[in-house]
Amino acid sequence: MKKKYLIVGAGFAGAVLAERLARKGNSMITIIDEREHLGGNSYTETDEETGVTVHKYGPHIFNTNNKAVWDYVCSFCEMMYYRNRVKIVYKGNVYSMPINLHTINQFFGKALNPKEARLFIDGLADKTITNPANFEEQALSFIGEDLYRAFFYGYTKKQWGCEPTELAASILKRLPVRFNYDDNYYGSIYQGIPRDGFTAIFEKMLDHPAIEVRLNERFDAGYDTKEYDHIFYTGAIDAFFNYKYGRLGYRTVYFERGVDEGDYQGNPVINYADEAIPYTRVHEHKHFTPWENFDKTVYFKEYSKETTPDDIPYYPKRLAEDMGKLEKYQQKVAKLSNYTFLGRLATYQYMNMDHVIEEALKLSERF
Ligand code: FAD
Ligand code: UDP
Repeated sequence: MKKKYLIVGAGFAGAVLAERLARKGNSMITIIDEREHLGGNSYTETDEETGVTVHKYGPHIFNTNNKAVWDYVCSFCEMMYYRNRVKIVYKGNVYSMPINLHTINQFFGKALNPKEARLFIDGLADKTITNPANFEEQALSFIGEDLYRAFFYGYTKKQWGCEPTELAASILKRLPVRFNYDDNYYGSIYQGIPRDGFTAIFEKMLDHPAIEVRLNERFDAGYDTKEYDHIFYTGAIDAFFNYKYGRLGYRTVYFERGVDEGDYQGNPVINYADEAIPYTRVHEHKHFTPWENFDKTVYFKEYSKETTPDDIPYYPKRLAEDMGKLEKYQQKVAKLSNYTFLGRLATYQYMNMDHVIEEALKLSERF
């Protein structure tokens, strides 16, 4: 008898798991998603007005150090060479981001070489902070007051809606500081963007006779699960328990769309550091596919705000109060024998696509 599995959510977590389980040949899989499309937040679609492939939930660039994950994803698409080079505007000047030798030299009006820059920044770093307890302390101990105030303070306040002293130091650690002219946003070995967009990957993954896909279908407490041997849940952990212990904190983002002729900003992503500018960044999606040509262009101003019950949860805040609630939810999950929780919402973690894929690949080996 083949096992019957239900997978809730058709983002990378759910789709990879479905694909792996189906290819083992010993199960029948139903994968549902409350959205009308596959792909979760990695979904891409063709913009009708311009023809450009847009990342509906914000720009997604695939990057990883894990060769197995890279090879796996590349087996479903033609992955194109792509390096994300981000600019940042501060007080009317344009700089390179993440902070690199060009940013340092431009910001301080110098022409330092790598060794000189290292010494110079070391001199600015706050040496009194030996064990950084939060985002701000992490930044000050590393790059000092001036660079922190210019490139991180305002942006981070807009992005997270709180003082950087309230945020975990780990959020800043996602960004490197480089003492050379390397302006590649990510440090990963493997990076790219799929030629036909991310959605095509999901269509290929789930195209299997053992997989039934049901879109526009929501899982909740009343969902009939009798026929399934096991349920894999990739939705929000607090929603699963009907917010019994309260809602976990998330920031959400929303976009203001604009269309122009030709090239709007000359780069895929430009960040805006000044607190007075209400959006955090502007992304112009045709620059994510430099191998294509379009007459028109579509761009999005990205704003960040607190998540209300009607919004899509994006960035887990993981403040102390959230972590207390999370622990209670996790204790309840541990008591469920025929459920597995995976993916960024079910684990309440900031996970990149490669992390989610790695987790799902590992999990599939146990079933
Ligand atoms: P999701 O993609 O969120 O999928 C979960 C799915 O479950 C959704 O489709 C949802 O509709 C469905 N669902 C939830 N609850 C229910 C329910 N009750 N019933 C039915 N369906 C349900 N990662 C990178 O590697 N590179 C990037 O450049 C990058 N950029 C990002 C930019 C932004 C703005 C954001 C927010 C994230 C970015 N990420 C990036 C992270 C990436 O989006 C995630 O790693 C990935 O989407 C996680 O996949 P997932 O399947 O866990 O979750
Ligand atoms: N950040 C910043 N200025 C920037 C870019 C990032 O202050 O120009 C901060 C911000 O708090 C962000 C964090 O650094 O949340 C990590 O950056 P990353 O690009 O990883 O953010 P993401 O948007 O992916 O969460």
